[in-house]
Amino acid sequence: MSFLDYDFMQRALIAAVLTGLAAPAVGTYLVQRRLALMGDGLGHVALTGVAVGLLTGWAPVWTSVAVAVLGALAIDAVRAKGRASADVALAMLFYGGIAGGVLITGLAGSTAATLNTYLFGSITTVSSDDLWVVAVLAVVVIALGVGLAPQLFAVCQDEEFARVSGLPVRLYSMLIAVMAAVTVTVAMRTVGLLLVSALMVVPVATAQQLTRSFRTTFALAMALGVVPSLGGVVFSYYVDVAPGASIVVASLCGFVLAWPLGSLLRRRRNARSVNGEDPRVTGAHVPTEQHPHQHDDECGHPKVEHGDHSDYLHDGHLHAAHGRHYDEH
Ligand SMILES: [Zn+2]
Ligand SMILES: [Zn+2]
Ligand SMILES: [Zn+2]
Ligand SMILES: [Zn+2]
Repeated sequence: MSFLDYDFMQRALIAAVLTGLAAPAVGTYLVQRRLALMGDGLGHVALTGVAVGLLTGWAPVWTSVAVAVLGALAIDAVRAKGRASADVALAMLFYGGIAGGVLITGLAGSTAATLNTYLFGSITTVSSDDLWVVAVLAVVVIALGVGLAPQLFAVCQDEEFARVSGLPVRLYSMLIAVMAAVTVTVAMRTVGLLLVSALMVVPVATAQQLTRSFRTTFALAMALGVVPSLGGVVFSYYVDVAPGASIVVASLCGFVLAWPLGSLLRRRRNARSVNGEDPRVTGAHVPTEQHPHQHDDECGHPKVEHGDHSDYLHDGHLHAAHGRHYDEH
């Protein structure tokens, strides 16, 4: 009898695919904004939500998503204020989340074993009701992550310029925080609250080694999230360990395996520019991947005259307007 014949395994595998797609999708934006540890903090906060569910008898999926979203909005508000004390405020929120979770779980009369299934995931405890909620939430997060990619990317890439070009930066920033909070809840049953952040960050870091553009990193990271999620759940079926641990170890292995390939690709790229294939030398047409910002005389980027046109210098690139996009010069 194969593991696929068990209902609980089918549910665990579906949850794993959804988690594997949603976590790196949100993670790409978090990494871009240098908020790689935000998922970790939200996982701590969500633990209090789970405990509230255990105490009140409401479904922990709902209570944790509610508490995590509140936590995300609080984190985003503290960050937007940009005070020096923000760091300490966030630390208190995160430790409060863990302590509150353990305390309320105790009051609810639940055991540490119950708590563990939320902290590190559990393949046997994904109920059909859980799965429905997880599926709806994951699909919403993935759809927003893909559908709003140009705007979200612009905000994560350069907040100042996004604001100048008229994007509602505050709103998108809150949206990313809320998406991260929802993803934490989606991931709670498979990879678990303490390890969810790894699945948001490691596949993105692996993808960044292999590709450079935002779009390919985003897509590759999602693929690199699904594979270890499925593998980790199957491994947990045969070897009795929490799936969260095997999923994270598998995705770290992916990172280590991609390392030599990544440095090979980087060396190739460098060698190519030395061989005269540099666009500055050959005049080849190299359009930029994503360019949400519009260069002009007032945009603040140094302007460099180049033959019959001007290039704008930023982040080590020279960009020249070409029709409705920019070229690398
Ligand atoms: Zn062009
Ligand atoms: Zn500019
Ligand atoms: Zn030029
Ligand atoms: Zn540019």
